[in-house]
Amino acid sequence: MLGSIGDDGKTVKVAMRLENAFEGKKAARYELRPEDLLRADREARSRKMDLIGIYHSHPDCDAYFSETDLKNSCPWYSFVVLSIQKARFDHANSWLPNAEQTHAEKEELIWPES
Ligand SMILES: [Zn+2]
Repeated sequence: MLGSIGDDGKTVKVAMRLENAFEGKKAARYELRPEDLLRADREARSRKMDLIGIYHSHPDCDAYFSETDLKNSCPWYSFVVLSIQKARFDHANSWLPNAEQTHAEKEELIWPES
């Protein structure tokens, strides 16, 4: 997720798709290549934005932050988890891991008015 960080929080402006590099069942886990993250970071900078977080989906599961999600997280990013139920978007949560990666705090998500 590319966007900006201001006094009123973080704003996602671009959701950049990265390939799930996990070798096994892709619905069960995701893995990002460091070079893809680097590319996203460069893309953000070239558009005067920041790489503010990473999103992934949980097919037919709630938008919770799993042990694996926590283990593979970085404390400086926001992690948005999308719950997809029967191939449709259901709900989302944003998580902010602590520096020790032992706990993730839920962040408030505000949707733009349409
Ligand atoms: Zn997950």
